[in-house]
Amino acid sequence: MEKKRKAVALYSGGLDSTLAIKLIQNQGIDVIALHFYTGFCITETKRRRGEKKPDGTPYMNPALKYAAKYGFKLEIVDISEEYFNIITNPKYGYGANINPCIDCRAFMYRKAKELMGELGADFIISGEVLNQRPMSQHLQAMKTIEREAGVEGLVLKPLSAKVLPPTIPEIKGWVDREKLEGIVGRSRKRQLQLAKELGIDEFEQPAGGCCYLTDENFARKYMEVLSTENRITREDLYLLTIGRHFRLPTGTKVIVSRNEGEGNFIKGLKKNYWYFEPIGKGAVAIAKPIEERALTEEEKKMIADLVARYCKTGEGDKINIKIVAPETQQEEVIQGQRLKEETLESWRV
Ligand code: SF4
Repeated sequence: MEKKRKAVALYSGGLDSTLAIKLIQNQGIDVIALHFYTGFCITETKRRRGEKKPDGTPYMNPALKYAAKYGFKLEIVDISEEYFNIITNPKYGYGANINPCIDCRAFMYRKAKELMGELGADFIISGEVLNQRPMSQHLQAMKTIEREAGVEGLVLKPLSAKVLPPTIPEIKGWVDREKLEGIVGRSRKRQLQLAKELGIDEFEQPAGGCCYLTDENFARKYMEVLSTENRITREDLYLLTIGRHFRLPTGTKVIVSRNEGEGNFIKGLKKNYWYFEPIGKGAVAIAKPIEERALTEEEKKMIADLVARYCKTGEGDKINIKIVAPETQQEEVIQGQRLKEETLESWRV
């Protein structure tokens, strides 16, 4: 009897990757879904911080949610440690913002190949659709990604298989190519029809931009750090995912929370950064001078004024602000005066 074949799938939790898995499972193949955590997935980052959606409900990881709903075996693969080099030094450059999609996909495929070996799988599947996205899903880019990752012939894309060259699982007859799809382009019409046919009655709406790296504001803040500080660290990169960012005229960076979830996260960073909190209700902040030095008295006053600006309680313009020094955790209280909008805007990144 022929061995039962097994595949690993790149799984985002979106409709396309859900359909891809279903199509392959329906051909009697055992599929293990792999969900890669890069550290820059917007929903997952907010979920981990305990932030709430505008309607008050918690964020959910779509891969966890839909793998549970549709009974997929799921492995979460944390690649955030190794991912830093890809963002700062991508061989194939960036897309419209700082999204290194070709390097990123190649990295995920390399990891998927490693896991394929460990899990005893025979090939890889992906929900990619030919010509759906500008940077990584046209034919030439797909070929480059697969060559870079050393997975040529091993990646089956069930949604576009009929318009792509046959892969090893099709050539060897493990998968019937005729039962796969030939979708091309950005229209979702066939995917929605297929969802009905395959019993996928609930799925994530394609929100566009589930990755911070494709976000224009994130890219602008990233470039600002590079041009002002001439370098960027892994920690700087993660800090770009939270808060309102300001640059004082002295060069010191200040990050102010925008909601309770971010406030709690920022509080957790006070061992490493200068920390500012109003005596009363309102946003909290951390500050980081460019060089390794203490904040000057003048800077403390500037940041206290900035934090006072976001304080929701207190009469009048003057608000007491608690400052905690990094490491020593020594506390002091100074008076801040709500900052004028004009100054605030001139510091905003
Ligand atoms: S959008 Fe690009 S950089 Fe972000 S996870 Fe997807 S492929 Fe990677």
